[in-house]
Amino acid sequence: MKKVVDVIIIGGGPSGLNAALVLGRARKDVVVIDDGRPRNKVTRETHGFLTRDGATPSEFRQIAKEQILAYPSVHIMEDTAAAVTGTEGSFEVTTAEGQVVIGRKLLFAVGKKDQPLDIPGLSEVYGKSAFVCPYCDGWELRDQSLGIIVSGDRAVHMAKIISGWTNRFTICTNGPDGLTDEQREELKLHQVPVMDSPIQSIESEDGMVRQIVLEDGNKVECTGIFFAPKLVIGSDLAQKLGCEVTESGTVIVDEFAKTSVPGVFSSGDAASEMYQAITAASLGALAAVSMNSELNAEAWNNAGKL
Ligand SMILES: Cc1cc2nc3c(=O)[nH]c(=O)nc-3n(C[C@H](O)[C@H](O)[C@H](O)COP(=O)(O)OP(=O)(O)OC[C@H]3O[C@@H](n4cnc5c(N)ncnc54)[C@H](O)[C@@H]3O)c2cc1C
Repeated sequence: MKKVVDVIIIGGGPSGLNAALVLGRARKDVVVIDDGRPRNKVTRETHGFLTRDGATPSEFRQIAKEQILAYPSVHIMEDTAAAVTGTEGSFEVTTAEGQVVIGRKLLFAVGKKDQPLDIPGLSEVYGKSAFVCPYCDGWELRDQSLGIIVSGDRAVHMAKIISGWTNRFTICTNGPDGLTDEQREELKLHQVPVMDSPIQSIESEDGMVRQIVLEDGNKVECTGIFFAPKLVIGSDLAQKLGCEVTESGTVIVDEFAKTSVPGVFSSGDAASEMYQAITAASLGALAAVSMNSELNAEAWNNAGKL
């Protein structure tokens, strides 16, 4: 008969790994299934994570795995979770390589991934001088001339946020600006140039942005870019299992990381729109505590029935 582990964690980024650490220390049998496609793989450095500021994403994972594997009840499988069936107490995960793992609880820490970047030249600079989150990379681009590719309400929001790092930036809406007259006035008042021509290409050298070339012939000289990619969840398995998701695909969880399906939890980017490694890790820790409480309560109640 196949062994039933306490928790199967799908996804071994900061969220899934922190959940594994907490559960390993709580003496739970855990299997982490991870296929090594973190969203921040393109970056050279991860910032804003206390004690790991400036670590490369691979260094971060390496240290995390070394620390977790000190706890003998945690196992990490390099594989893709391809299908999930079952209900609370007995979830069965089949991997792409044909392995089957059965677990009492299930954690989806599958992250999010970018949809293909459809601006010519953007993939060459992504993660080197074009970024998605000013809290992650704004410090490195402080006081520089930036191009901010964003439109509509988010343009005003981003202008306010970016102005904390530099006052030299141009909003490129890459087509119709989607702004109201008041929003245009507001940006004008703060002397933020707005260019609404579609972007023809991004020119760069060794990954460093030089200029954004617009279809109307204008060029925006800049040394960095922030943009908002369209994101999709790292795996649709949670949804297939019946977990409710938002319109944008984020798994809906309560304050204890529980999804709408009993015994199924979700954490990190998959279940939040904060998109910071430390937040993802902390949500993983929260999910671990929540699952561990349930497992201990179930064992306690069952023991009482003997
Ligand atoms: C360009 C860029 C720069 C960033 N810079 C920073 C920064 O400086 N500081 C910061 O705090 N944050 C940064 N972030 C955000 C940070 O990367 C994420 O918030 C964080 O990685 C989320 O952690 P996670 O564990 O939820 O997901 P991820 O780190 O994305 O991990 C999810 C894991 O699940 C795996 N997976 C998915 N589906 C399956 C499946 N079916 N089977 C097996 N495995 C699966 C994936 O392979 C992946 O390894 C950056 C993001 C980007 C895109």
